[in-house]
Amino acid sequence: MRELQNVCVFLGSSTGTNPDNAAATVELGRELVARDMGLVYGGGAVGLMGLLADTVLKAGGRAIGIIPRSLFAREVAHQGLTELVETENMHDRKAMMYERSDAFIALPGGIGTLDELAEITTWRQIGLHDKPIGVVDVNGYYRSLLAWLDRVTEDGLLNEQNRGLVNSAPTGAELLDILSADPTGAATKWDN
Ligand code: AMP
Repeated sequence: MRELQNVCVFLGSSTGTNPDNAAATVELGRELVARDMGLVYGGGAVGLMGLLADTVLKAGGRAIGIIPRSLFAREVAHQGLTELVETENMHDRKAMMYERSDAFIALPGGIGTLDELAEITTWRQIGLHDKPIGVVDVNGYYRSLLAWLDRVTEDGLLNEQNRGLVNSAPTGAELLDILSADPTGAATKWDN
């Protein structure tokens, strides 16, 4: 077992149109608090991001937002967080989100979410960290991405072990169980 004190969540800065995605966001937020795990996220007050932070705070949990100055200036930062860290730029922001977290989860989101998921998985693949990663596959939201990863593996452009770095489960609770059990998949450095 691995103790996850803080879990970083990547998710949409919009709410979108599918209520299942909002429901899954609330479910994960409550689960984090029930397990006494702090939330680390992008610090926004908008969209699914804002919903997640509000859920955690309302349930009495800890929410740490890490936001670059440029977004802060546009007043999208959540003002009621346990801790709000302002960074110089997007790169510093990502590095700090990654440093302060013990595991990484992607909920439904768009390109920003995909970017963060891809980057944190790349970092693990090349051995920059050994923290577990997974997606909440809300009603198959990530099915096509997972199928693509299988195809990449089949074609030999990603090895089996690294394919195993992207865990998935239909709910936040199930995914937290998997990540807490410390899925191995110790990344093979430089050998994709
Ligand atoms: P997207 O999935 O394209 O909506 O982007 C969401 C992800 O990118 C989040 O996990 C954030 O870390 C980051 N992000 C994008 N837009 C914002 C915003 N307005 N405020 C804070 N973070 C954002």
